[in-house]
Amino acid sequence: MKITRLTFNPFQENTYLLHDDTKECVVIDPGCYEEAEQQELKQYIEKHDLKVVRLLNTHCHIDHVLGNKFVSDTYGVELEIHEEDLQTLRSVPVYAPNYGFPKYADVTPSAAYLKEGDSIKFGNTELKILFAPGHAPGHVVFYSEADKVCIGGDVLFQGSIGRTDLPGGDFDTLISSIRTKLFTLPDETVVYPGHGPETTIGYEKKHNPFLR
Ligand SMILES: [Zn+2]
Ligand SMILES: [Zn+2]
Repeated sequence: MKITRLTFNPFQENTYLLHDDTKECVVIDPGCYEEAEQQELKQYIEKHDLKVVRLLNTHCHIDHVLGNKFVSDTYGVELEIHEEDLQTLRSVPVYAPNYGFPKYADVTPSAAYLKEGDSIKFGNTELKILFAPGHAPGHVVFYSEADKVCIGGDVLFQGSIGRTDLPGGDFDTLISSIRTKLFTLPDETVVYPGHGPETTIGYEKKHNPFLR
């Protein structure tokens, strides 16, 4: 499986495209807002002849959902989220104009919600869904056991953790999610976060100041 990172919007949010030899592609957290950003995503997909088959959100803060509508409309895929983050998604259009995103367009997610323990399958690839609340109430991460990679959203960053002061956030819950869901993955697992560079579980166990 290949992982492509595109960084969008003023929050410098990492949008990930996961694809394999079959050319099937999953889009996670599309943050593209401006037309130039939308075109960058589209052109990457066209250039590599990818077929978008799923649209997933790790969680529904504004920086991760700005491109949902574009991806959903362009590729005919339904948005998939965890049910516990429905409220997070529903509040975005309320505050989007104040954050400088007046063009934000809402998307109704699929009624088939992402659930812990279920798998996302595309091409020859399988991702396990892990429920990891604390930064957002319905935050999930996607783990490939075969590739030893985790698309981690805003749970764990290189040397840091997600903020917990937004609605539905909770510090103790976040720490517990990291310890029980992420730190139980193999040390060599590479974490691709929602902001900033990749890290590994082993590195964060040793060096993350929030988790000593
Ligand atoms: Zn977030
Ligand atoms: Zn974020």
